[in-house]
Amino acid sequence: MSKYDVAVIGSGPGGYVAAIRCAQLGLKTAIIEKYSVLGGTCLNVGCIPSKALLDSSHHYEDALKHFEEHGIEIPGDIKLNFKKMIDRKASVVEQTTKGIAFLMDKNKIDVYTGTGAFKDATHIDISGEKNQTIEAKNTIIATGSKPASLPFIKLDKDRIITSTEALSLKEIPKHLIVIGGGVIGLELGQVYRRLGAEVSVVEFMDRIIPTMDGAQSKELMKVMKKQGVKFYVSHKVSAVSKKGKKITVTATDKNGKEVSFEGDYCLVSVGRKPFTDGLKAENAGVKITERGMIDVNDHLQTNIKNIYAIGDVVRGAMLAHKASEEGTLVAEIIAGQKPHIDYNLIPGVVYTWPEVASVGKTEEQLKEAKVEYKSGQFPMRALGRSRASGDTDGFVKILSDKNTDEVLGVHMVGARVADLIAEAVVAMEYRASAEDIARMSHAHPTYAEAVKEAALSATEDRALHV
Ligand SMILES: Cc1cc2nc3c(=O)[nH]c(=O)nc-3n(C[C@H](O)[C@H](O)[C@H](O)COP(=O)(O)OP(=O)(O)OC[C@H]3O[C@@H](n4cnc5c(N)ncnc54)[C@H](O)[C@@H]3O)c2cc1C
Repeated sequence: MSKYDVAVIGSGPGGYVAAIRCAQLGLKTAIIEKYSVLGGTCLNVGCIPSKALLDSSHHYEDALKHFEEHGIEIPGDIKLNFKKMIDRKASVVEQTTKGIAFLMDKNKIDVYTGTGAFKDATHIDISGEKNQTIEAKNTIIATGSKPASLPFIKLDKDRIITSTEALSLKEIPKHLIVIGGGVIGLELGQVYRRLGAEVSVVEFMDRIIPTMDGAQSKELMKVMKKQGVKFYVSHKVSAVSKKGKKITVTATDKNGKEVSFEGDYCLVSVGRKPFTDGLKAENAGVKITERGMIDVNDHLQTNIKNIYAIGDVVRGAMLAHKASEEGTLVAEIIAGQKPHIDYNLIPGVVYTWPEVASVGKTEEQLKEAKVEYKSGQFPMRALGRSRASGDTDGFVKILSDKNTDEVLGVHMVGARVADLIAEAVVAMEYRASAEDIARMSHAHPTYAEAVKEAALSATEDRALHV
């Protein structure tokens, strides 16, 4: 029987990063993945394929709507080859997952294909093409999550679908009804809107992206409405039915009135749930919470001391980079180091266009916590860079402590803010004040100038270009 210092169950961005870091630290490491390709949700049916389709559909929309204003004329009609778009996405996924296989090889990590199930706290049965058992001093559970649904919805995965199917459709929906105005619903809704579908987003809360700053919800909804997406907030979906190709979604609006939507596809994007099926955690004595998550302490250690859990299967934001940070943390803890994650500084991003990005506390959270703060906001339309590219929607908002000026939260909507948020994370990691950012030189012309200007605005209201 093969023996390891660490066995990692699951090869998503939590698991594979944990495995690499363990190997770097000299630990003999195995990774177990039930699918024949590595990379988990993120690489196969999450972050990477959704971004590939967002980029492709963005090019298509630019060609249709914006080339002309740049003086680019295309003789004849612009045609969409949807199959090719989906095939390109598949090849991006393939290249990326192959990259992970290469990294496992390079780091001398043994890869086992099959479902990993605890036999006891130090033995894992792997059932795949070959059934075998390995022994591990430590195990890291990184089994991720699956799409959640509502109890009355029967996902047929044909027309009533989750994000997984939405990434590989064979045709463009005529009318896509999206249940849930969170990140995944909005990203995929925007993809199909750009490709010509009518898109209706039905959201239970009174705003979209409800965990982000209220100003971002408002701005993104305004811009997406201009792009033709229809929004129905404060609508509680009560039924979804299918007759032939027709899908009917029934909901109750905020006045208690029943409304219905008819479409040919319904994307159910109401969140994700932790996944532990087949893991047989009980054989090792590992505690799972009522909500199906693996229970962990601050060191991501389960109630069994040599078993850890990371990523979507534990509490916290379901984000790839959060899973990876946790993977690194656990590997270093096993190797005897004392690392730390500041969860307040894990950024959140929506890859619609304009993009939406946040780090730290929202204005709503600061109000609730009764923290005295200052707010500085700068509109993208006032930037030369935004006018040059034509991306004038959005803003950067910086919230800083009223007394100390320490940056408490940064919230952005605009072109490339998914990349810009890194500046805010660095600033907050080093506990910068708004004035510190305001006094740093930002290259001109860049979208990053909006960060400086928002910081100037938070610091005695002295933005220069408004
Ligand atoms: C459409 C979509 C878009 C997304 N976009 C983004 C984004 O842009 N940015 C971002 O940060 N996050 C994004 N996410 C979320 C991100 O994909 C997850 O947060 C991330 O994948 C979680 O990583 P993980 O390692 O915890 O689990 P996962 O990536 O879910 O990986 C878990 C792996 O464990 C395997 N497994 C499960 N049980 C067993 C078992 N018993 N034995 C062996 N293997 C097992 C599974 O097959 C899977 O491969 C997106 C998600 C979706 C669905």
